[in-house]
Amino acid sequence: MQSHVITGIPQVRRISVPARGAVSSPGVASVSENFGDGLSLNALPNQASRQRLSSLAGLSESLMGAPAPGHAHEEPNTASTVNQLSPQELDRERRRYSHIYDSLRTGQPQTFRNSRGEQVTYALRANRDQGDYRNYTLQIGRNQVEVNLANRVDEATALGRISDYYSLQPEQLRGAVETIKVEMGANPRNSYWEKEYGMPGFQSAAVGGGGRITVFGGLPQLKERTFHHEFGHNIGNAVRIAQDRESRRAGTLSSDRALDRQTGDADSPNLPRGHSAARQADGRSVTSYGDRSIAEDFAEFYEEYLLAKGRGNNAVQQLKRNFPNRFALLEREVLSRRLSR
Ligand SMILES: [Zn+2]
Repeated sequence: MQSHVITGIPQVRRISVPARGAVSSPGVASVSENFGDGLSLNALPNQASRQRLSSLAGLSESLMGAPAPGHAHEEPNTASTVNQLSPQELDRERRRYSHIYDSLRTGQPQTFRNSRGEQVTYALRANRDQGDYRNYTLQIGRNQVEVNLANRVDEATALGRISDYYSLQPEQLRGAVETIKVEMGANPRNSYWEKEYGMPGFQSAAVGGGGRITVFGGLPQLKERTFHHEFGHNIGNAVRIAQDRESRRAGTLSSDRALDRQTGDADSPNLPRGHSAARQADGRSVTSYGDRSIAEDFAEFYEEYLLAKGRGNNAVQQLKRNFPNRFALLEREVLSRRLSR
């Protein structure tokens, strides 16, 4: 059985937006939680709530079966300008992603060099608006993903970043995500979590699961690390569904699930079966953020894997030496698959 005890403030991660109306504070901690239906939430409490984090032990289990966040919720874009890039930053980003303008103007496939230095060719189609969201279809190779941008999210920057980060995912795993959404405002379920956690000002940064990634708070939260992490929750979920299908076919589903309860894999549907045992065998943390739950451990490991790939083969080999069991499971049960929803 894995423990969910938080040993102090989680590592500072992927957080740049303070609670609306709150004073920005460096070193805001983040918390993240898993849902019984395969969704996972990354959230940031305000400073006043930080000291309460240490009393959140066992939170993950208390949330199993909690209602899913309202992905279909059409929230008003009421976020303040604190969530936006400066004009200079925006200008820089628009120049960097000018190929997005070319793509939207001409309707022709475009090529760019992603942050790993690879040439990527994509096709981008602007569809009819969906309520308050601009809707696009992004296609890279044989995969396509739907993108929804809230009204005030800068189009070229958001689509440029998303096509870059999406292209960094292993090609065979991209089918784990069908929809990416960037909200300007906060998670409409913040008030639910605020009460559930007893943390005033609780703000979520992103959620991932069930084939979806939703980023809250506009461009500042649309970051490579966060994207990989949320993609990781979706990959873990898709792999687990595939493993269950295989177990059912082999007639071992109920015994495999009984084993999940012993190993700790039953704590989340967002990880490959076997990851709890691999973590135990490795005997070390990926990140302190990952220590929050087994699903966060998997998402963090997946994120570290992609970041290592970006740094080159030596970094990948180093990761493999540090986490041989997680790495072996990733190769055997994740990277070897072609995922779809
Ligand atoms: Zn997470």
